[in-house]
Amino acid sequence: MPIDCEICSGSREDPAYPLIGESEFWIVKLAPNQSLLGRCVVATKRHVGDLADVTPAELMDFLEVVRRLEYAIRQSFSATMFNWSCYMNVAYRNDPPNPHVHWWLVPRYRQQVEVHGLTFKDPHFGHPYDHYRWQEVPPEMRNYLVREIGIRFGLADSY
Ligand SMILES: [Zn+2]
Repeated sequence: MPIDCEICSGSREDPAYPLIGESEFWIVKLAPNQSLLGRCVVATKRHVGDLADVTPAELMDFLEVVRRLEYAIRQSFSATMFNWSCYMNVAYRNDPPNPHVHWWLVPRYRQQVEVHGLTFKDPHFGHPYDHYRWQEVPPEMRNYLVREIGIRFGLADSY
């Protein structure tokens, strides 16, 4: 029996992954874990299971998403740099797996950031981040993050 793809079947209204923006071939959502402020997931709109099968047009469009999203998060929260990773490990816990290409964008911070009374630190700056360090933020804060990043992501063509 084929395994459903969680990304393809994911609603644009899913409160766990609110929509930040999109391009022609990619969709950008806020991740639940905000221990590193501004963490996002960037997925292909098309169901494709391996980076090697992404088309040149999708890849060029991805570069534009990288530029716009990094710009947006730098402007919003003064992120120092960014870790981009494409793992797809979870899909392979099923056999057969049904992976769907998605990138984690994890902003990294040399300094701590305060937003609306909440403090965000990057204790492993300069090293791999701790995947298990988890910080959720209240719904109003999530809305704020989506708005702040989303508006700049949308405006980034003019930077
Ligand atoms: Zn899919």
